[in-house]
Amino acid sequence: MSMTNGETQCQFIQKNIYYGWQFYHFNEYNSLKSDSRISTANKWFDKAVSLWKDNKNEAFKWFGYGLHCLQDIEAHGQIGAGAPIPQHIKSPKNSNYNWEKADTPIGYNWKNKNKYTLVYKKNSTTRLSATEKRTTEYLKKFIKKVGYRK
Ligand SMILES: [Zn+2]
Repeated sequence: MSMTNGETQCQFIQKNIYYGWQFYHFNEYNSLKSDSRISTANKWFDKAVSLWKDNKNEAFKWFGYGLHCLQDIEAHGQIGAGAPIPQHIKSPKNSNYNWEKADTPIGYNWKNKNKYTLVYKKNSTTRLSATEKRTTEYLKKFIKKVGYRK
């Protein structure tokens, strides 16, 4: 990444401090075809698996980091996708995006496949259910991979 026209050194540095970690909350890519949260979750899943034998606490930590990425897929959708500093999470003034409702698990659905605008639907658990499904799959995959037993 390089400085753009009109950008001060200070703005450039500030932008890049955030750029380093936003990709696991928000999609680094503007397209729906790629999602930095999925690739990061997979990377940290593998790290957790590799740590499992020698350091279970560290393994669980990286497992949790990876899970966080997957859970943010429904929580944040494509809000701020591709932006150096995604808005966390505040709708632009006079818009109907409802971004500030993104962390509300019940009652808000994505308006369409773009996952950019939230619309109210009373008692809807669509996003919560999708996240629950992803979470269960991730847990099962981990248990199977490391042969975890109580
Ligand atoms: Zn997050």
